[in-house]
Formats: sequence, structure tokens, C-alpha cells
Amino acid sequence: MQSLNESDNKDWKSKYFDSLQQLEDMESSWSELDGLLRKTIGRLSITARGMDQQLDRVLLEIQQHARNKQDDLLPKDLENLARLVNQMDAPSVSSDEPADNHQIQDYALNLVGKLKFDAHLQGSFERFKASIHALDDEQCLQQLADFINQLHQPGTLDHDLIREVLMTLVEKIAVTHGNSEGLEQLKHRLEEGRQIENWHQYLDDIVSEIRTIIRGLNREKIELEGLVVDVTRQLAEISSTLSDEKSDSQQGRKESENLQTLMQENVGQIQHHVQNESDINVLKNSISENLVSIKSGVEEFVARDVERYNKSEQRNSKLLKQIKFMEQESDELKLKLNENRQKLMFDTLTGVRSRLAYEETLDQELARWSRYQEAFSFAVLDIDHFKRINDDFGHNAGDKALQIVARMMSNHIRKTDYLFRIGGEEFVLLLPKTSLEQATPLVEKIRASVSESKFHFKQERVQINLSAGLTSVMDADNAETIYERADKALYDAKKGGRNQLIVKTY
Ligand code: GH3
Ligand code: MG
Ligand code: MG
Repeated sequence: MQSLNESDNKDWKSKYFDSLQQLEDMESSWSELDGLLRKTIGRLSITARGMDQQLDRVLLEIQQHARNKQDDLLPKDLENLARLVNQMDAPSVSSDEPADNHQIQDYALNLVGKLKFDAHLQGSFERFKASIHALDDEQCLQQLADFINQLHQPGTLDHDLIREVLMTLVEKIAVTHGNSEGLEQLKHRLEEGRQIENWHQYLDDIVSEIRTIIRGLNREKIELEGLVVDVTRQLAEISSTLSDEKSDSQQGRKESENLQTLMQENVGQIQHHVQNESDINVLKNSISENLVSIKSGVEEFVARDVERYNKSEQRNSKLLKQIKFMEQESDELKLKLNENRQKLMFDTLTGVRSRLAYEETLDQELARWSRYQEAFSFAVLDIDHFKRINDDFGHNAGDKALQIVARMMSNHIRKTDYLFRIGGEEFVLLLPKTSLEQATPLVEKIRASVSESKFHFKQERVQINLSAGLTSVMDADNAETIYERADKALYDAKKGGRNQLIVKTY
């Protein structure tokens, strides 16, 4: 083998360090972009669940731009989506929260930094970069959009950047709503980078997938509404039947009072005739008239009473039928709601609990903690350099890796522990009644076993590692603070070289 001379060697070294630096830069900027997209999609999905008017408008706009092949509007479209999202959750991006402001500023800088543009725009770019730091988030995004539009020339868009942005969008939608065939196909197309220059077509397809999801949600909503309308109608009928019954029985009481009055009057008249009538024939006639009147009063009363009784019988059997029907209907409703709940509680790719389940369970555990003071431990686990696995072996391999890692984690925990997939390749372990001393070796064992296992994709060995941050619940903790503490520990684990566990107790 030919040995390298001094200058080759230097060249090689500096190239090596340059590429390392580039990789580091890419990674950190992508995780920021990822953060923003995570937010965007998270909130998009909230929009999709009900208040979809605004979203529809923005999505429609994007679709129109896509149809008209207005490539130059991509940055503006993404910016519009981001703005919509910001408006939807104003408190978390308000200017008194510097962290979010920073995130947006960094995102802006990174995005701009990735653009290729002509040398004559360099000065303008530098001025823009300097101004970003002095801006609030609204203005910052606006300026960013203006700037990008100003620089953009057809053909200068960075295709890798677009592909990544679209892929992340698709993955986030899959995590929040479950994988669909359409999303799968999109992933494949994106992965192969087929006709990425027609990004508007991709955006169009993503928009139509979101629409399908909204349509699906609406269909379910309409079905449930139908059931509720049915039940409500039955209830109204029952209530009107009951009020018929009530008015009938009131009528019955009134008629029996009338009959009593009629009897009293006739008896009074008979007494009067007996005392005052001396002619026996007249007396007989009068009494017989009174008796006829009593008889026909009683007959009428009985006939009406029989009629009321029959009506009441009919009503009773109708009521019974209605109640039975309503019971069936409400069983169906319960079943449907339960099915929907179950679907939402588990992640479709890995089968472990979903992000929604995470939010509910953590709230429950925190409530239990404040009531019974039963301490629990909390870990965030994130696969290391997962992007590389996707890039080197493809998304199918990435998906398989996620399934295998999730299964390995599940195998290590107890029935009473909870494992959630809360993001792309990020998991949370919630360990009730488990102290840090007990949790540390468990999480460490999970980390070691993932690292030591032999994964293969298409006969090629793939090393999978993960980093973890572990903490336990403390006084005054809430869902955010406990996650933040574990996430800080995870960040330290990543910074410290990855494939390690860091425990944080304060
Ligand atoms: P780090 O060690 O810092 O965590 O680096 P990383 O590459 O793991 O993290 P980063 O956040 O940069 O990238 C995460 C990648 O995970 C990007 C995204 O394409 C991928 N991903 C997210 N969800 C899915 C999914 O459902 N399937 C596949 N195959 N990949 C996913
Ligand atoms: Mg990762
Ligand atoms: Mg991650």
C-alpha cells in the first residue's frame, strides 16, 4: 500500500475534520428543525381534530400553489404553516419565553444557512443574519420568508433539505395518527427521492393524506353523532309517552271525581224524593231515573277506564321496546368509543403505548404521587444517530429497528411498568413504585442489551445504540418539569458521547 506523504496526510486530516464538523452541524441544526416540525405537526393534528377551518384554508392555499407549480412559494408555505401553528398556541411562543424565541431564531438561521445563493446576495444575507438576533419571533419569521422569497431562483432549492423536511412531516403524521397505506407510499417515494424537484406534488399528496385523516375523523364523528341523535330521539319519544300516561291518569282521576259527584247528586236526589214524594209511582219513576243516570255514569267511566288501561298497556310495551333499543344503542356507542380509544392508545408501528396514552398515564401517576406519595421513576430513551440508520439502510430498516428496540425494551420491564413511543425514535419508560436506585440498573440493562444485540439488515450488521436520561418524581413536579429533567439528562448523555445513561436528581 502506498504511504501518504506529509501534505496528503494534512489534506486528508483536514478533510476528515471538516466532514466531522459538517456532520455535527447538520445534526444539531436538524434536531432544531425537527423540534419545530414536531410542534407544527403536533398542533396540526390538534387542528385536524376539530378546529380545522384555519388549517383547511392554509392547506388549500398550499394545494393551489402546488397545482400551479409555484415552486418559489415553498418557503412561504412552510412559513405560513409555522405561523398558523404559532397563532394556535400563542403562549408558548410569546416573547417572554426566550427559549422558544431562540428556537425559532436558530431555525431561521439554520434554514437560511442551508440555502444556496449567488455571491452577490452574500451581503444581504449577512445583514439578515445580524438582524435575526434583534427580532421577535413574528417579525423574524416574516423577514425570513421575505428574504427567502427574495433570494429564491427556480432550481436553487436544496433538494436534500426538501426531502428531509417532507420525510419528517410524513413521519410525524404517522406517529400522531398511525401509519396509513398512503403515508407508506409517500415514505417510499421520498426515500428513493423520486422526482423530488416536483416537491409540490409531494406536498399536494401530504395535504391530501391530512385531508383523508380529517375525513376519517369526521366520518367517525358523524357516525357517533348519528347514534347520539337516535338515542336523543328515543328519549324524546319516551318522555312524550310518559307525559301521555301522566295526563291520562290525571284525566282518570278527574273522571272518577266526576263520577263521585254524579253519584252524590243522584243519591241526594233519591233521599230528597223519598222524604218528600207521597205518590209511589212518581217516586218509583224518579228513583229509576236517578238509577239510570248512575248506571250510565258508571258504564261510561268503566269504558273510558278500560280504554285508558289498554292505552297504558300499549305505551308500556312501546316503552319497553324503546328502552331495549336504547340499551343496544348505548352498548354500541360504548363499544365504538372503546375501540377508538384503544386505537389511539397504542402506536401502530411498534405496538407500545402512544403519546396520547403517555399524557394520560403521566397525569394519573402524578395525581397518585400527590395523594399517596408513591414515588416513581421516569426515563427518556432515544436511539443514537437514528438518522444514519435510515440514510444508510433505508426507512424500512429504520422502521424494523424501531420495532425491535421497542420489543427489547418491553421484554425488560414489568407488567406494571409503562413504555411509550412519544416521538420518532424517542421512548419514555414510566416505572411506578420504583426508586432511582432500582430504576438505574434496569435502564442500564436495557441500554446495554440494545447495544450488545446483533441487528442485521440484508445480511449487513447494524450497530444500534441508545442514550437515556433518568430521573424520579420530586415535590412540585408536573408533566413538563419531570420530562424536562429527564430530557436534560438525555441531552447530557448525547453530549457525553451517546450510548450511555445519565441520572438526574435535581
Ligand atoms: P441523536 O443521536 O442525536 O438522537 O441523533 P438521531 O439521528 O437519532 O436524531 P435526529 O432527531 O437527528 O433524527 C431522528 C430521525 O428519526 C429522523 C427521522 O427521519 C427518523 N424517524 C422518525 N420517525 C421515524 C419512523 O417512524 N420511521 C423511521 N424509519 N424513521 C423515523
Ligand atoms: Mg436519536
Ligand atoms: Mg430524537
